[in-house]
Amino acid sequence: MIPEPKLNDLYQEVILDHNRRPRNFKEIPNPSHYSHGYNPLCGDDFHLYLRVEGGIIQDVGFKGQGCAISKSSASILTSMIKGKSLEDARKLAGDFIDFMVEENKGDLKSRIGRLSIYEGVKEFPVRVKCTTLIFHALQDAAKDS
Ligand code: ZN
Repeated sequence: MIPEPKLNDLYQEVILDHNRRPRNFKEIPNPSHYSHGYNPLCGDDFHLYLRVEGGIIQDVGFKGQGCAISKSSASILTSMIKGKSLEDARKLAGDFIDFMVEENKGDLKSRIGRLSIYEGVKEFPVRVKCTTLIFHALQDAAKDS
């Protein structure tokens, strides 16, 4: 793994906390939706599992290994989308990817909520793929429904 870039201390704290104690860090047996994400630039390698019923994400989990940025973003994402509709989760993923790869425009920042802590990573372009990995996996998992 590439060493972590130095971010604003407060954000660093949140990222390190989610890295140490990732939420929803579990495999879900017989998931209704699944995807695998791999980032060769850093070695981040995560599996994403969803159990969707009636269009609502009843349970979500992820397993694998990666740097603190990729792991914490997966932890935060999964805790944000549990209980939400798959459609809302897919929109959130699209908004976050746009937020990370484009010049900040309009109200993207307000739409992604606490995920905006990764804004500082935009100064380290090689690490942007670490933040977006699990979001691409979510889009991939949701694409057939
Ligand atoms: Zn990484």
